[in-house]
Amino acid sequence: MIPLRRPRRPMIATVEQRDAHGTAVRLDTGRGHFTAETSASVPIDTGVAPWVPATYALAMRVADSLELRAGTGVTGHVDREQRAGAAAAGAMFASWFPEVDAVPMEAGLAGNDIVRVPRDGRGVGCFFSLGVDSFHAVRKHRDEITHLIFVLGMDLDEHDGSAAALATERARAAATELGKELIVVRTTVRRVSDPLRVPWPRLYFGPALAHVALCLAPTLSAVIVPSSPPITSRHGSHPYVDPLWSSSRVRIVHDDDDAWRPTKIAEIADWAPAMRFLRVCYQEQAETYNCERCFKCVSTALCIRVAGGSSAALSPDVSPETIRAMPLAPEHTDRVEWIRDRLREQGDDPSVLAALDDAIAGAHRRSRLQGIAERVNEEIYLRL
Ligand SMILES: [Zn+2]
Repeated sequence: MIPLRRPRRPMIATVEQRDAHGTAVRLDTGRGHFTAETSASVPIDTGVAPWVPATYALAMRVADSLELRAGTGVTGHVDREQRAGAAAAGAMFASWFPEVDAVPMEAGLAGNDIVRVPRDGRGVGCFFSLGVDSFHAVRKHRDEITHLIFVLGMDLDEHDGSAAALATERARAAATELGKELIVVRTTVRRVSDPLRVPWPRLYFGPALAHVALCLAPTLSAVIVPSSPPITSRHGSHPYVDPLWSSSRVRIVHDDDDAWRPTKIAEIADWAPAMRFLRVCYQEQAETYNCERCFKCVSTALCIRVAGGSSAALSPDVSPETIRAMPLAPEHTDRVEWIRDRLREQGDDPSVLAALDDAIAGAHRRSRLQGIAERVNEEIYLRL
């Protein structure tokens, strides 16, 4: 059966210059008009280049082609590297994700800046959400990194009020302690990708990061993207895809570290800046820095406990009640079993070990019930 798909039209992306610190794009998608804006605490590239990944990944979902304009009726220019890279990234996404197609990009050819711009004194940036992956990448590359990039509008939005303000303040304090300059970026790209149903963590997260990296061309010649999911998973930010969004001005480097999360935590658990400023919680409307109740908070705190670390931001002294109340999905039981086995080897508190046993047993029970419910549903469906 041929799946029904809404007819697609060309998407026109018109880049609008705001000021030296801000850029915007107006999108005519055939499903309405949208505007996305990005601004930074440093001067940014206000040209077409930064908008290539951000608009191309949207066009793949909703349009049959992308036309880039540098102003009303004026063709936008994209350099050869970026054109070839976007086509390769698009082909890879199209082979991974059934909801997107590789689409042609219409734009003029820009001169190549590697030839035009002599080597300059620009720096090396690293995305810095204050999470485990960020601290792990920063510790590994701390000699090369000159700037840390903190973004509002991705996992954390300014709409989140005091949580966003607190995280920004901690990012600034952490950067000062690490001797790096902090760049704060605000973007509304997600307010366009969400309504167009381009899945955020699974797909659009990577192109959105690439967009921010390319915006910072006046300050940075390379930007490191900390690794997150394992290399085997198909994900919008991936070591094969991220570098393809590079332009001739900014090299995007995915930190090729396929370490398991507990291993990464062990590798930063003895590092004071990480333990002071670590932020792992993405609970919506969290008014606290880390909620210390969700799976991410509790499992990270327990991994710090396994590594023998201590953290003011996320205490490894987790109570048995908190462990029992932790929402534990079946796919995460492996990690919790690993934590329990390590803590048992270390002769940890029996009440904590018993709580971990209960949490794991509960997750297995829920998984079995879910399996039964799915089979019953299937039975009913087949009999209808
Ligand atoms: Zn939390």
